[in-house]
Amino acid sequence: MIIDSHLHISYLKKKKSFTLIRRNLLSLMDRNKVNYAIVIPDNVPNPQCAGLDDVNELVKNEKRLFMMATLLVNEVNNENLAKIENMFRKKLAVGFKIFPGHDPVYPTDHRWLPIVDLCQKYKIPFVIHTGINSGRPDVAEYNDPKHIRSLALKFPKLKIVIAHYFWPRLDYGFKLTELLPNIYFDTSALADPEVVRESGGLKKIRDILVKTIKRKSDSVIYGTDWPICSFTKHINLINSLPISAKAKQDIFFRNSLKLFPLEK
Ligand SMILES: [Zn+2]
Repeated sequence: MIIDSHLHISYLKKKKSFTLIRRNLLSLMDRNKVNYAIVIPDNVPNPQCAGLDDVNELVKNEKRLFMMATLLVNEVNNENLAKIENMFRKKLAVGFKIFPGHDPVYPTDHRWLPIVDLCQKYKIPFVIHTGINSGRPDVAEYNDPKHIRSLALKFPKLKIVIAHYFWPRLDYGFKLTELLPNIYFDTSALADPEVVRESGGLKKIRDILVKTIKRKSDSVIYGTDWPICSFTKHINLINSLPISAKAKQDIFFRNSLKLFPLEK
């Protein structure tokens, strides 16, 4: 079984309807034997990437698709908190994603606290975008693992997922998350050619993933960041790791099943 815990319903160059992208996604999942996927909405109005309400509609009647919730930090108000809580309670959203670096907001910003509380209450992972954006190394200041570390220490019951491993500084990401049992990593974008090149090559990516699961066997979950990144490249990356078949299955689905409330 494979669960892709990080992808989007979006298009890159050629304009397509979200309904068509969803159909393409489901057939791509069939072809690659991906059983379930968690769709992450964009947190700003974006004609190219489905937002919270669109994704809610797109995954609603599809057993194979789950979603995360997201907001801009200045949208955290009573009305939206009630909406997010309802989504968590009904398991309509299985994670909450923030985008520090896309947004000039730190994960430790006090305005996230009501969301952090809800995530803890419903045992929903708090997912954090990390790393540089293409051509914008300065934005990594906002998602630096030092901030994530202080959040993890302050809220030991909060399950935190680091997306993109703070690329290209993988070793720093590994070191700063030492001895933190509530930190997880998704593999999204780690097989992307630019990420691989900038982070020190494929061997480096493999080494850091192996080190991470040796440190804590349930701490790596499979994700791709499709459609920006490829299904096959990510599947091949996990299959190429020098680890047991059981450890690969942990990454492909068992760790996600433990982490996210995937029930439909
Ligand atoms: Zn993504």
